[in-house]
Amino acid sequence: MNSNLHIYNTLSGKKELFKPVTEGHVGMYVCGPTVYSNVHLGNVRTFMSFDLVYRYLKFIGYKVRYVRNITDAGHLVDDAEEGEDKIAKKARLEKLEPMEIVQRYTLDFHNILDKLNNLPPNIEPTATGHIIEQIEITKDLLAKGLAYEVNGSVYFDVIKYNKTHHYGILSGRNLDDMIANTRALDGQEIKRNPQDFALWKKAEPEHIMHWPSPWGEGFPGWHLECTAMSTKYLGNQFDIHGGGMDLKFPHHECEIAQGTACNGVAPVNYWMHANMLTLNGKRMSKSTGNNILPNEIFTGETDKLTKAYAPSVVRFFMLQAHYRSNLDFSDIAIAAAEKGHNRLMEAMELLKKIKPSESSDVEIESWRKSCFDAMDDDFNAPILIAKIFDGVKIINTVNDGTASINGVDLALLKETIQGFVFDVLGLEAVNANSNSELLENVVNMLIKMRKQARDAKNWALSDQIRDELLALGIQLKDGKDGTSFTY
Ligand code: AMP
Ligand code: ZN
Repeated sequence: MNSNLHIYNTLSGKKELFKPVTEGHVGMYVCGPTVYSNVHLGNVRTFMSFDLVYRYLKFIGYKVRYVRNITDAGHLVDDAEEGEDKIAKKARLEKLEPMEIVQRYTLDFHNILDKLNNLPPNIEPTATGHIIEQIEITKDLLAKGLAYEVNGSVYFDVIKYNKTHHYGILSGRNLDDMIANTRALDGQEIKRNPQDFALWKKAEPEHIMHWPSPWGEGFPGWHLECTAMSTKYLGNQFDIHGGGMDLKFPHHECEIAQGTACNGVAPVNYWMHANMLTLNGKRMSKSTGNNILPNEIFTGETDKLTKAYAPSVVRFFMLQAHYRSNLDFSDIAIAAAEKGHNRLMEAMELLKKIKPSESSDVEIESWRKSCFDAMDDDFNAPILIAKIFDGVKIINTVNDGTASINGVDLALLKETIQGFVFDVLGLEAVNANSNSELLENVVNMLIKMRKQARDAKNWALSDQIRDELLALGIQLKDGKDGTSFTY
């Protein structure tokens, strides 16, 4: 394959010409969500950035194996080395089985990503489904002398590893500085060095998610699951590994150390990191509550917005920024994105009606190349969108008769712009909602108007909305979390 795709590699800090391990094939792994709460728009931004990568790789002809895991065990509160599992904590607070929590938020994750037209990965492995693989890697690292066991827990020996490799290669750190900047072990901890990280942890009696192992009942360390699942499905050395910027250290640094120590080769050739989505200038995050949920945007039921926005508009908003740039979410920014999105979709409708002329005075070949050039330059979606709007200009000038286009050029214009808008960017015409989605949106709008009527003590109107919906077979139910409906 003769592709000119360049990818910014966090490892080298440079854009590099993309050369996969196996000609024509790409192995790509993306760290998935920890399923203990609803995904917020920040999480979605990272997954959508890699959806764009996946879509473009396929568009230019690669066969891609895209693996994105579900973290359903091992990720401790505050990403700490000690403490409670995020999922177990939520299960304890809600008096549910941990796997009920996992199921609920995995479904939410799929539902949201699907609404936003993200393609599903080819394999979606779970941490709990790969305990044996994680135990095997831990045994291997112990046998190689790069891990040690203390009291039922096994730790990776960072200092020993660093004697022959560079721990910090990805994040640009060095171990001596890290040691100088960390507090000493407090005597409670059983690790030899503060930098060492857990491969396997002994389960204390209150830890409800645990499995048998050669070291007793315990659970795997968070970093280990990604090494186990990525190498199992993609091999010891694969092409692309992605995640949000915040995962660079320690999560991905530890993955490099584990993979290299086990298999003698660096596991990943191109490390890609997506930048953060902010809200009011601060990072969106689950723990601080500074976030917005995609469904709040689709229904408009949030005081952060003046109205609802369709999923494709949200997608367009996100793709207007390069994946390595910061992006701030606001009512004004999404409203502007909606205008651009709708202008684009109007042009796409117009394009269907354009008839070819005998001659052409528009330049399609070089415009088409500029679209590929944008994406070949480290998936530069904002530049691509600017080029697509150059295409919109062509459509408009042909439509109003100031330019003409022949059959060959028209076919190329259609194939290119439709390919980039629908297949690469994954946008959808807003009215392309399925009927059930449309019904849901309309009823939610009426529920919102009924609430406004009730707030204004306009009981007659609120009753009318309820009764007329009932006459149509749609029953509203008022509950403590708001109004829902059945039909
Ligand atoms: P988590 O479920 O918390 O492990 O996060 C899932 C993914 O979302 C990870 O790749 C994070 O890096 C990413 N992420 C978390 N917060 C943000 C944010 N504000 N903007 C973009 N990505 C984020
Ligand atoms: Zn991971």
